Amino acid sequence: MLIDTDKLWERYSRQVLFAPIGRDGQMSLLKSRVAIIGLGALGTVSANCLSRAGVGYLKLVDRDYVEESNLQRQILFDEEDAKRVIPKALAAAEKLKRINSSLQYEVLIEDVNYTNVQNIIGDVDLVLDATDNFETRFLVNEACIKNNVPWIYGACVASSGLTFTIIPGETPCLTCFLGGLPSVGTGETCDTAGVISPVVNVVASVQVAEALKLLTGAKPALNRKALFFDLWENQFFEVEVMQNDNCPVCGKRAFDLLAGKMQQRSTYLCGRDAVQVLPPLKLNLSLEKLRDKLLPLGDVSVNEFLLKFTTGKHELVVFPDGRALIKGTSDEKLARALYARYIGA
Ligand SMILES: [Zn+2]
Repeated sequence: MLIDTDKLWERYSRQVLFAPIGRDGQMSLLKSRVAIIGLGALGTVSANCLSRAGVGYLKLVDRDYVEESNLQRQILFDEEDAKRVIPKALAAAEKLKRINSSLQYEVLIEDVNYTNVQNIIGDVDLVLDATDNFETRFLVNEACIKNNVPWIYGACVASSGLTFTIIPGETPCLTCFLGGLPSVGTGETCDTAGVISPVVNVVASVQVAEALKLLTGAKPALNRKALFFDLWENQFFEVEVMQNDNCPVCGKRAFDLLAGKMQQRSTYLCGRDAVQVLPPLKLNLSLEKLRDKLLPLGDVSVNEFLLKFTTGKHELVVFPDGRALIKGTSDEKLARALYARYIGA
């Protein structure tokens, strides 16, 4: 990495001129390590900003691939990425390397669950939440509290957004803020209410501003309140979040999700009309062999990252580790049955 050269200071000059960051802050950013969980709407905006800001190492984690309906708001992707059916984390890294080639990008094409979350967040200074579901957020909350890693919650739906900065041992955690896992079907989702891109950009931008403060040691500048806004209704307000001494996570340090007590083999993916099915154990599938097996049964295509199989109104996308996205259904039982029939029990 280029350090202490005129070129480096020129590149980041507008940010270095900003007094609270300065040269020291820039050096801190260049040495910082951040994990972005989810490279969809929020994640692509955050990754774009953090890469341009010169955050030295970005871990890009996502389980999905690029589709045309992503392009309305997922700013790192283009039509070519959708045509290539390429995993989002990889497409993001390709684009980021063109934006700032001096940084380090690690690509993880994985579902984040109790088996891997502590590894993912264990070697970074900060985690940015850019997921689209509460299961993963509460899991990340447990992992970050347990391993003492700050993380920044962000969520958006329709024209409204919400952010909250969580520092273990200093602030309330997500469970203090929102209670336990909301039951499925409560509240609006991108599925039912859609989302407009300005909301995505504002939520992610607030997360990145908080990230810059944290990574440059400007803790007093952090927003200790939850920030809520609705861009269509012209509402902005902050909510004081109370520390709950009886919080099962940051109070009692009971990490049930990390223990795998609530792990499910299948998960309905909001906004995708799809169910993700995980194999009982990580596999090492040959996608070519699977293609040969499925060829007589429907349309199959393979690239180096995934296999796509269409049968009737369902589409199965299979990754080499045995994970599959079953599109065209919200019925987890049916999805698991399709998985068993076409991929294996
Ligand atoms: Zn808590």
